[in-house]
Amino acid sequence: MSQLTFLGSCREIGRSGFFIEHSDESFLVDYGVKFTEPPSFPDMIPTDELQAVALTHAHLDHSGGIPRILAKSEASLFCTPATRDLSLLLLRDMYKISRGPLPFTRKDITLVKRQCQATAYEETIPLGHHFETTLFNAGHIPGSAMVSVRVNGKRILFTGDFNATESQLNPGARKNLPKHDIVVTESTYARRINPKREEIEEGLIDSVIETLERGGTVLIPAFAVGRSQEIMCILEKKGLPQKYPIYLDGMARGVDEVLVKHPEYLQSPQAFQRAVKRVRVIHDNRDRTNAVKKGGVIISPAGMLKGGASYLYFKMVHDDPKNSIILVSYQIPGTPGAELLASRKVTVSGRLFEVKAEVRQHHLSSHSDSRGMLDMLLKIPGEPKFYCIHGESESCDALAERLEKRKRVAHVPEVNESVEI
Ligand SMILES: [Zn+2]
Repeated sequence: MSQLTFLGSCREIGRSGFFIEHSDESFLVDYGVKFTEPPSFPDMIPTDELQAVALTHAHLDHSGGIPRILAKSEASLFCTPATRDLSLLLLRDMYKISRGPLPFTRKDITLVKRQCQATAYEETIPLGHHFETTLFNAGHIPGSAMVSVRVNGKRILFTGDFNATESQLNPGARKNLPKHDIVVTESTYARRINPKREEIEEGLIDSVIETLERGGTVLIPAFAVGRSQEIMCILEKKGLPQKYPIYLDGMARGVDEVLVKHPEYLQSPQAFQRAVKRVRVIHDNRDRTNAVKKGGVIISPAGMLKGGASYLYFKMVHDDPKNSIILVSYQIPGTPGAELLASRKVTVSGRLFEVKAEVRQHHLSSHSDSRGMLDMLLKIPGEPKFYCIHGESESCDALAERLEKRKRVAHVPEVNESVEI
């Protein structure tokens, strides 16, 4: 008999963790953080018989607690080389900016590199006496994977975050997945339909060009991993860097360096290389002031104007109607970005700003929407049983209901719930 325990990411986004036990061996998929204050992690697992840890992708809600596990176990970490390098970057940054104590040391972060067995997509690896794992491209960010685990004659798929639609940065998730008995699926946008990708890209380009033509500066607050690079590729495709300066700030610079080393995970390595060469890298506050003065497009973290250099730019661009601030991701309620969309008055670092710059949103999602999600899940052969996780509570329920309407068995697990497989 085998057992699967949902350690986190149940009716929530954050602290992903899935623990499989069979006989005297065990296997862990993801071990992430949730940015509460202080940060929360899944409950600690027994590590004595842990055969391996598999990581779907670098985002900290999946990877943020991995050093805690590796510090207690000699088990290998299986992920793509891009995920390994991006995780190291994100974990070091998290450690640097963390205010509360973390359940691992700075030195433990190096174990991600030391214990990693870089894994290619589609490669099947036997682990211990009872497990076997394979990674499939998830199309979410470069290097992202769905983790397939074989145990006790059953195949379980952990989708991680996935996007079936290709973007300018990522090839879409693997089509035609093999037969599975159980699928643990993300539900992030189970209640949302995205406009066509090309329409969103066109809208973004139109907003950027309108601002530049009237002599304004465009601020695009964006996540450092994935979104910033995608914006760079979209602007590159339209030939904008030849006409206007494009600036890049924050950790996105380090992410570019990692991705240049791993071109095999990119939709178009040549286009990305061109975009990286043409972008102007910001080093300090003097560069920031000059960039705003000269005008152009500034891509800077954080994506919701909370932390990162985007706040410094926001202070400089907010009061001129010629400028625009373009939000390119979902804005979590309560963040400065969400406030900005709702009222044009925004409190950043305790100060209230009245915004005269134009504010627009062009949401470039890196997750499948409800249609794309259902379409991909229903095509997985083997009539698998579904567990819907990684979404607001209502989204997890909505996905389970839609699957049940299609005569599939679906369940929304609670934190620390265990099921027999
Ligand atoms: Zn993610």
